[in-house]
Amino acid sequence: MSGSSGSSPCPKCGAEMQTYMDWKPADYVSGDCFECGFYYYTADGQRTLVEVNELRAENDLEPIEELRKQW
Ligand SMILES: [Zn+2]
Repeated sequence: MSGSSGSSPCPKCGAEMQTYMDWKPADYVSGDCFECGFYYYTADGQRTLVEVNELRAENDLEPIEELRKQW
């Protein structure tokens, strides 16, 4: 793991939450409250070509034929 752990106040109950952040493969944060059970995390995923083109259309971009190759 390349990220760093820490703690910050839970927004739901005020207890100290355990938090974790990383910058790979993209900005990532997560937190777990060991008192009230609240948690959050940054989600990532892979969109299909159809989904990407829907997003592009909403943003006035021309559709693409195929997804760009990933590293
Ligand atoms: Zn809490």
